[in-house]
Amino acid sequence: MTPAEQQQIADALQSKIAATGKRPACPMCGGGDLGVEAHFAYIGVGATPEVVIGPAFPAAMVGCKTCGNIQIHSLITLGLGHMLPPPPAETPSQA
Ligand SMILES: [Zn+2]
Repeated sequence: MTPAEQQQIADALQSKIAATGKRPACPMCGGGDLGVEAHFAYIGVGATPEVVIGPAFPAAMVGCKTCGNIQIHSLITLGLGHMLPPPPAETPSQA
C-alpha cells in the first residue's frame, strides 16, 4: 500500500466516524492513538470451512499503538473499492 492509499483510508475512516459524532477510539483500551497499517489484510472466504487457496477479501487494518489491537475495515464500505484489483474474469489475457 502506498502512503497516499494509507492517507485515503485514514481520511475515509475519519469522515465516516465524524458523521456518527464519535471520536476514533480503540474498542479494547479506549486509546486514541490509532494508525492505518501499511499493508492490506486478506481474509480468505468460502462456502465451506476447508482451508483452500481461493477468493480473499482485501481490507484495511487499523492498529492501536497502545495495546496492539488490530481492526479490519471493508474498503468497499469506506468508498475505496477502486483500490481493489479487478476480478479475475476482467483481468486481460497474457496469451
Ligand atoms: Zn488499544
